[in-house]
Amino acid sequence: MAALFEVDYNDSVWDAWLTTVNLMDIVERSQQARQSYNFEESRHQIEKICQVAEEHLIDKNERECCCGLSSAEHLLLKRKILKFYMLQVSSLKHFL
Ligand SMILES: [Zn+2]
Repeated sequence: MAALFEVDYNDSVWDAWLTTVNLMDIVERSQQARQSYNFEESRHQIEKICQVAEEHLIDKNERECCCGLSSAEHLLLKRKILKFYMLQVSSLKHFL
């Protein structure tokens, strides 16, 4: 089961998002998880992360972001976002 939910640096941030929220939906049904994992807080963080990804057009190939950050900085931002999803997924997996 856990193997179905993997996020790595080759994923788009949108794939990573989908994997994370799917796993979260499954885990949220577990009583034990609801006692020890703050789903509300996580969903709030994910929402903010999605907004950042949206604003900087991360993995939206049709347009280039013109906020002033370099492409290297955008790449770093993408890696930070993916890292966030990786950490979420790895802590959620403990409840599978
Ligand atoms: Zn930008």
